Amino acid sequence: MNEYDSHLVASELAAEGAIFVDSLEQANFVLVNTCAVRGKPVEKVKSLLGKLRKEKERRREPFLIGMMGCLASLEEGREIAEHFGVDVLLGAGAIHKIAEAVRSAGRYWDQGFYPELDEIIPQPPHSLSAYVTLIRGCDHHCTYCVVPRTRGPEISRHPDLILREVEGLLEAGVIEVTLLGQNVNSYGKNDPAYPDFADLIRQVAALGVRRLRFVTSHPMNFSDRIIEAIAETSAVGQYVHLPVQSGSDRILRRMAREYRRDYYLERVEKLRQALPDLVLTTDVIVGFPGETEEDFQQTLELYDQVGFDSAYMFIYSARPGTPSYERFSDMPREVKVERLERLIEKQKEWSLRRNQAWVGRSVEVLVRGPGREEDWALGHDQSNHPVLLPAASVPGPGLYRARIEQASPHMLFGQVEENLLVAEAS
Ligand code: SF4
Repeated sequence: MNEYDSHLVASELAAEGAIFVDSLEQANFVLVNTCAVRGKPVEKVKSLLGKLRKEKERRREPFLIGMMGCLASLEEGREIAEHFGVDVLLGAGAIHKIAEAVRSAGRYWDQGFYPELDEIIPQPPHSLSAYVTLIRGCDHHCTYCVVPRTRGPEISRHPDLILREVEGLLEAGVIEVTLLGQNVNSYGKNDPAYPDFADLIRQVAALGVRRLRFVTSHPMNFSDRIIEAIAETSAVGQYVHLPVQSGSDRILRRMAREYRRDYYLERVEKLRQALPDLVLTTDVIVGFPGETEEDFQQTLELYDQVGFDSAYMFIYSARPGTPSYERFSDMPREVKVERLERLIEKQKEWSLRRNQAWVGRSVEVLVRGPGREEDWALGHDQSNHPVLLPAASVPGPGLYRARIEQASPHMLFGQVEENLLVAEAS
């Protein structure tokens, strides 16, 4: 979502005539998009703002510092902004005010939430894949999560705007669209005139999107209707990201996650029945306050029951203002780190097993740019596996049919069989 929001703001600034530069020395306005979901990104923001404040003191000509996004929505963000002399502060619900803020050329702070934000259709990115926001905010109240405070309650965008945005992307040559929201499954819930998420998937796919993805989901809202829509829409493929967070009912209750382990397993079962090639990924928080070794063992057991293809695994980060921060005391960091290491090992075993099942199969790989190493081009397949292809057989960004020849826990390695679509140099 932050990537989408950065792009939206860049689009608004470009319309104002802004020129984007690569180095701090060339810039007279630097805008930092922030994340508040964990402690580490907040520390990174402070360190960057410290550098920017020094730059501002050094400059003779005007130099503005901006801060936007989730941290900028919070009281904590206000205090940080005050400390580092931030000129432009735009909370996550006010980022569309960027042009007005820059025009003011002075202090401009706004932490409000404005429905007009959702009416903006940003310029298509210069890329083969793009994001489209469906819904902002969240109506769940997970006790560890700061998002309901930073992004407010769920607000679904008007479906006409979404469809118009997707049409624009397709005209610009985009072949992969990712639908975004804190909880996309709830789309349309508060407006009977809107389609639900299942129907929206069908409507977006009908526009001719070659590859359609969505992130992220909540197990409580992942209905049978959504599973049916995925199964009948070939553009979606068989990739689902379904955050579980813990395998222990006691901890899920403390997290206020609303579902229990059996319910999650039942959703996975339903998904596997409908999507025989399901690639399932998840999010897990390790070391939530009060998590015992037994609770953690239940998470490890859940891993063996489900066999996730991959996972985003984090140690619990106590965020000021969240219910879990107020109510529970954090556990020693060494315990959390040790559990995380065990979970990562477990995930590695499963990722290798699951990835090896793709060896010998033919997949469509979308290459957006060069790989990290010169000899390889990095792309991802329909199931969102990262795939490395020999750079010599990849003339540029595009879509390739490839045969998977090898697998590691984090990567598939393939050989190009066919160039399906090579993007123009522009
Ligand atoms: S569903 Fe996701 S965004 Fe919403 S409160 Fe829970 S963790 Fe936060």
